[in-house]
Amino acid sequence: MLIIPQYSTKVVLKERAKEHRVKIFIGTSVESMESLADCVIVKGTSADGSVFTATSKYIVSADGVNGMLQKAAGFDFERTSVETNIMVTGELSLNADITIPAIIRNEKAVEIAVPLIKEHNQIRLAAWMASRPNIPVSTPFFLEEINGTLEAASGMDWKCYNFQMLYRFTNAAGTVTNYPKDRVFLGGAAHYHLPASGQGLNLGLQ
Ligand SMILES: Cc1cc2nc3c(=O)[nH]c(=O)nc-3n(C[C@H](O)[C@H](O)[C@H](O)COP(=O)(O)OP(=O)(O)OC[C@H]3O[C@@H](n4cnc5c(N)ncnc54)[C@H](O)[C@@H]3O)c2cc1C
Repeated sequence: MLIIPQYSTKVVLKERAKEHRVKIFIGTSVESMESLADCVIVKGTSADGSVFTATSKYIVSADGVNGMLQKAAGFDFERTSVETNIMVTGELSLNADITIPAIIRNEKAVEIAVPLIKEHNQIRLAAWMASRPNIPVSTPFFLEEINGTLEAASGMDWKCYNFQMLYRFTNAAGTVTNYPKDRVFLGGAAHYHLPASGQGLNLGLQ
C-alpha cells in the first residue's frame, strides 16, 4: 500500500492532466446535463458568474458519488450493505514520542497510524472503537474523542492536535448496476464503500 498525503496526490494528478493538455477551470459549477443521441450538453456557471454551455461527444462524471451527473444520467444504484458506523479517520499532528507507523490491536480498538509530514509530526489515523459502535455520522467529532480512544486502547496520551480532517465512516456500500450509460462514463461516482486500504481512489481510477 502506498501512503501519501492528499495534497501530493493532487500534484501528481495535476501534472498528469497538464501532460495531456487538459484544461482545468477552477470554481466552475455544472448545473445540468443532457445526454442526446449524438452528443452531451452541459450547462453551468463559471467562476466569474457567467453562464456557460458546453457540448461534447461523451462526458466523464468526476463529480463524486453525490454529484449531479450520475443522477442526471439516471444511473441505478445497487446498495450492498446495511449501514452501520464503524470507523473514524483523521489527519492530525502528534505531540507525543510515539514511533510511527503504529498499529494497535486489542479488545478495545484497532488503530493504525501512518506518517504524513514528518517535520509537522503529521499522521493519518484510522480507528475502530469497540466502545463506540454505531454512532450516527452526523455526531460532532472532536480531538478529545480521538485522544481518548487512543489513550484507552494504548495506555498512552498521544497528544494529537492541529487536525486537518476528522471523519466518521459507515460501512455503507453501493455500486451502479450498469456503466457506461448512453454517453456518460463514471469514475469514482460509480461506487461508494469504506475506503479502507486505500481502495477508494484506486477503484475510481480503474
Ligand atoms: C474522509 C475520507 C477519506 C478517504 N481516504 C481515502 C484513502 O485514504 N485512500 C483512497 O484511495 N480513498 C480514500 N477516500 C475515497 C476517495 O476520496 C474517493 O474514492 C475519491 O475522492 C473519488 O474521486 P472522485 O474524483 O470520483 O470524486 P471526488 O474526489 O469527490 O471529487 C469530486 C469533485 O467534483 C466537484 N463537484 C461536485 N459536483 C460538482 C458540480 N456540480 N460542478 C462542478 N464540480 C463539482 C467536487 O467539488 C469535487 O472537487 C476517502 C474518502 C473520504 C471521504
